[in-house]
Amino acid sequence: MTLNKFAPSMYKKSIFDVNYDLLKKKGIKCLIFDFDNTVSSVNTKSTPKENLQLLKKLKENFKIIIVSNNFKRKIKPICDKIEIEFISFALKPLARSFKKVIKKYKFSKDEICIIGDQLVSDILGGNKFGIMTILIEPLSTKDLKITKFNRFIEKKILARLEESNILERGKYYE
Ligand SMILES: [Mg+2]
Repeated sequence: MTLNKFAPSMYKKSIFDVNYDLLKKKGIKCLIFDFDNTVSSVNTKSTPKENLQLLKKLKENFKIIIVSNNFKRKIKPICDKIEIEFISFALKPLARSFKKVIKKYKFSKDEICIIGDQLVSDILGGNKFGIMTILIEPLSTKDLKITKFNRFIEKKILARLEESNILERGKYYE
């Protein structure tokens, strides 16, 4: 696998720093958001109100879908609150959930963008599938147990990405 498969199309500090107007201009119609540490904080086990408000606002211009490797019982109550669809237990980086989105909503790959905090699941999954990918910094320093191994791998990949001048932690771009 080439290192480029881990390089996001864009890299931003948080979901609030993404230029959604630009995405719209680029023809993006569907935003897939990761859940843990992208929209919700694993540290505090809470989902900040302003994050939910942002997703709600974005619904005016995009189809919003939460795609999470976490369980339905964790995702559903929050998504229901703001009436957003979700796919739980998505097994990212596998393409299964992305294929589901395409099949159900008839978007083409160049109309979909995934936004997430993990190189190994969100970015690798999106890149392999051929959609736009945006990496953001994790909302908290704590990770889910299932993520800990991914972070270990991610550190090694980040070091190689930095060596190759592809991506450097904290150097945001679009
Ligand atoms: Mg995450």
